[in-house]
Amino acid sequence: MTVPIGTRTFSYDALPGRIEFGVGALSRLPDEVDRLGATKVLVITDPSTKAIADRAIELLGDRVAGVFTDIELHVPIEGVERGRTAALELEADCLVTIGGGSTTGYGKAICLDVDAPLVAVPTTYAGSEMTPIYGITSEALKQTGRDLRVLPKAVVYDPSLTVSLPASATGPSGMNAIAHCVEALYAENANPTSSLLAEEGIRALATGIPGSIRDPEDLVARSEALYGAYLAGAALAVVGMAVHHRICHVLGGTFGLGHGDVNAVILPHAVRFNQAAAPEALARAARALGATDAATALFDLGVSIGAPTSLAQLGMHEADLDEVARLVVDPPSYNPRPVDVRSVRALLEDAYHGRRPEPSASFATASVDP
Ligand code: NAD
Repeated sequence: MTVPIGTRTFSYDALPGRIEFGVGALSRLPDEVDRLGATKVLVITDPSTKAIADRAIELLGDRVAGVFTDIELHVPIEGVERGRTAALELEADCLVTIGGGSTTGYGKAICLDVDAPLVAVPTTYAGSEMTPIYGITSEALKQTGRDLRVLPKAVVYDPSLTVSLPASATGPSGMNAIAHCVEALYAENANPTSSLLAEEGIRALATGIPGSIRDPEDLVARSEALYGAYLAGAALAVVGMAVHHRICHVLGGTFGLGHGDVNAVILPHAVRFNQAAAPEALARAARALGATDAATALFDLGVSIGAPTSLAQLGMHEADLDEVARLVVDPPSYNPRPVDVRSVRALLEDAYHGRRPEPSASFATASVDP
């Protein structure tokens, strides 16, 4: 059959999951565990969220079988193995993660080998709690995969748990969430629903993150930021990412840089890199940012919230940029604009020096329906 021009064609694997969202939602955590019929919970948390975890443990009472706190950045395989052993020895029938993307990442990696549902209580804007994606670092390489076993059965979003997140983590973590939305807009398998989530996610984050930095205890701003992070995670969950995330995984997994920090630095440059190949998607990103050019708007947003703007500032050595570029292109992965070592090296060079990604003279914004 001839498909008429102007009709829509798309595929969308929607995902299951329960969300409890709201200030004070932590008090509903025991209900979520009971809903799963679980009685032996392994709580997974890191020391910086101890105060929140202590409240959760008190609320869960005798449902708690044990607490695992051995969390490191980028989920190294050795730590995951210790977590699996703890879960198996305790015969845990539910894992509850309380923390940022690193903590959620441990819960997911443990779920690959332990038959227990995961309940996530996120305390940053990483968005991992919404996705079936796991990442494990082994021999300095971060490998990611998708598996429905790691998708949390329930997510408890409580904006009051994020007020303790310092500005130095709020900004980069927020830029990480915006990056999920931006790459969702130009994803190979983007669909109308994921794009709606992504555009609204950028709008909410671009309002909520600056407000949360101005006043960390502003629960309206914290709520908006966490809502945006939820939307960003929901979009990330159903589409593939592109060159921005590939670069961030190499810089994090192989060069040990913080995930949020590298997201903040790389995103404006990845957007400039893809501008000509994905004009409509990036016009939607710009619209959500209240701007005409997404790359410079993201760079300026990063500056305004005090997020890092250069790889040099993160301690990256310029001499390693060639190696990063080589690792980014091999193995090849989807990106709207074809990726090669030379063009990625040029992107990294701009990011290393923290240059504002000015539009080229030929830049013209694509129009999108208002
Ligand atoms: P993180 O979990 O490492 O947290 C950043 C820092 O903030 C840590 O020091 C942590 O202890 C601290 N922290 C967290 N919550 C806090 C709070 N409420 N108050 C005070 N301090 C707090 O970093 P992140 O940015 O949340 O997550 C990054 C990780 O998540 C990376 O490994 C990334 O690859 C992964 N990730 C995975 C997915 C996925 O779908 N699998 C999606 C996004 C990110």
